[in-house]
Amino acid sequence: MKLFRHAAELMQWRRENRLLSVGFVPTMGALHNGHISLIKKAKSENPLVVCSIFVNPTQFNNADDLKRYPRTPEQDLAMLAAAGCDAVFMPDEAEMYPAPPQMRLNFGNLEEVMEGAHRPGHFNGVGLVVSKLFHMVQPDRAYFGQKDLQQFLIIKRLVADLSFPVQLVCCPVVREADGLAMSSRNVRLSADARLQAPALYRALTEAQQRIAQGENPQTVCSEITRRLNETGIFSVEYLTLADTETLASVQSPQAGMEYALCIAAFLDGVRLIDNVVFRM
Ligand code: AMP
Repeated sequence: MKLFRHAAELMQWRRENRLLSVGFVPTMGALHNGHISLIKKAKSENPLVVCSIFVNPTQFNNADDLKRYPRTPEQDLAMLAAAGCDAVFMPDEAEMYPAPPQMRLNFGNLEEVMEGAHRPGHFNGVGLVVSKLFHMVQPDRAYFGQKDLQQFLIIKRLVADLSFPVQLVCCPVVREADGLAMSSRNVRLSADARLQAPALYRALTEAQQRIAQGENPQTVCSEITRRLNETGIFSVEYLTLADTETLASVQSPQAGMEYALCIAAFLDGVRLIDNVVFRM
């Protein structure tokens, strides 16, 4: 497995392999089996797989979250090599941002809800770094997790609006045995918080069942939110039924249509997100 720290080396390697299709998996490291599922999917569809590891400062709206973001580079490289990854791009901040970026991306309504509403500037940072990485890696396909559903839709918009010649693939959420969605941030949970954390997924599945049975989405979401908040352990930022394309909040779901139930909550000072996509 190749390890590149500079874009020029990566691009040289890409030119040498220009006849082979590349599957790309951008990450912020502290890898877990969710990330590895993306690498394996990419490997099954492309002769070459590139993974990037870069904790992107421009997408953090909270300096403490950035400082405390877990970093496990040696373990990440071992996991990637074992999964059959061909090349890893691990730039430092100066490599990605030789000068502070001035450009601002605007994703319209898509960034005004959920993560966009609660993390100002987040998707501008995501859009910038993914654009830079797409230019450097020149992937044929890029793989993202449904765990970050809004991020996937933002990148779909980015690719359409800027005509990036890349096919996007959305991969299912990988969960721990108790239902908790795998996340690099899970290691920051205390032992007790880790035990409570699966309540988020249980909240999503309960809401899904009740909405599918005809209960009012808003009533269900506010009731479950109140119950989680009353534990004193969770602080829910949002729990909403959303349209899977626009992420606009849905009040009257229609039979046969696909919807996403999305949640974000603080638990023990750690912000976790999760979602389920289902058909009514
Ligand atoms: P991150 O390192 O958190 O930026 O995530 C890198 C990629 O892995 C993103 O496309 C995420 O959506 C995806 N990912 C993170 N957690 C999971 C998971 N539990 N299951 C599937 N994909 C995931």
